[in-house]
Parts: sequence; C-alpha cells; structure tokens
Amino acid sequence: MNILTMLWNNLRGGSRTMLFPERPKMSKGYRGLVRFDPALCSGCAICKMRCTARAIDFKSGKGTFTWSYDPGQCTFCGRCVEGCKTHALSQDAECPPVYLTIGELKKSYTVARKPAPKPAPADPVASASPAAEPATGGAQ
Ligand code: SF4
Ligand code: SF4
Repeated sequence: MNILTMLWNNLRGGSRTMLFPERPKMSKGYRGLVRFDPALCSGCAICKMRCTARAIDFKSGKGTFTWSYDPGQCTFCGRCVEGCKTHALSQDAECPPVYLTIGELKKSYTVARKPAPKPAPADPVASASPAAEPATGGAQ
C-alpha cells in the first residue's frame, strides 16, 4: 500500500478518537482494574512482589501498613489477584481506566494491622508423653 492510499484511507475513515467522558468498549480478555478490600488484607505484601509493573506499593508502618495502587502503571495481568491468598484483590472488567492526568486514579489505603491469632491451647491427650514401649527382640 503506497503512502497516498494510506492517507486516503485515514481521511476517509473519519475520527477514531472519542471525547471524554465517552468510553471505549472493553476488548475481549480485558481483566480490569484491580479492586482492594482492606478488610480482607493481611498485609503480607505478596501482591507488591508479584507486580513487575510496580503498580502496587506497600509501606509498613508502626501498627499499620499502607497499600497503594496506580492504574496508570498497571498492565491488568492479574498476577497480584492470583497471588492474594485472602482474596482481598479482585478485578473489575466493567471499569476502563480513563484518566486525564497521571496519577489521578491512584488510591492509597492505610490499614491497621490485625493482631496475630492466639495459638490454640495444647491438647492434654496429644501432648502427654507416650508410654514406654516394652523392649522386644534381642538374641534368644
Ligand atoms: S492484598 Fe492480598 S497479597 Fe496484597 S498485601 Fe493484602 S493480603 Fe497480601
Ligand atoms: S494486575 Fe498486574 S500490573 Fe496490575 S497491579 Fe496486579 S500484578 Fe501489577
């Protein structure tokens, strides 16, 4: 295809952009923005380690931690969601990341650390020392 044909096709095709707040249709396979539920988060920071795009930031404080997510950095790969054992993360395919300025969609949550669960009391039967076994075998 020569350059003139390309130009003609582009001019004939009309505008391919849309004005905000009109939104494009989501393409098939788009997983969506990451949603965070602070009530389910244990503060393990595994999501941050799994996010190679550095869209998730995690800072530990005194008795709290701060979890942040920047959709402008996110590739929507879903690795953070797959790695979250407490299901604090999910993806919302209905919501395209439309923004006008960098960092506009970034969100941070400061969450109080939950106290570690108390160990269950020891089972007195299981913890009792086993009775001495009678000696067996030996030369006859
Ligand atoms: S969102 Fe999930 S993986 Fe990330 S810190 Fe919280 S519990 Fe851990
Ligand atoms: S979906 Fe992928 S790129 Fe986006 S925050 Fe999760 S791990 Fe990072």
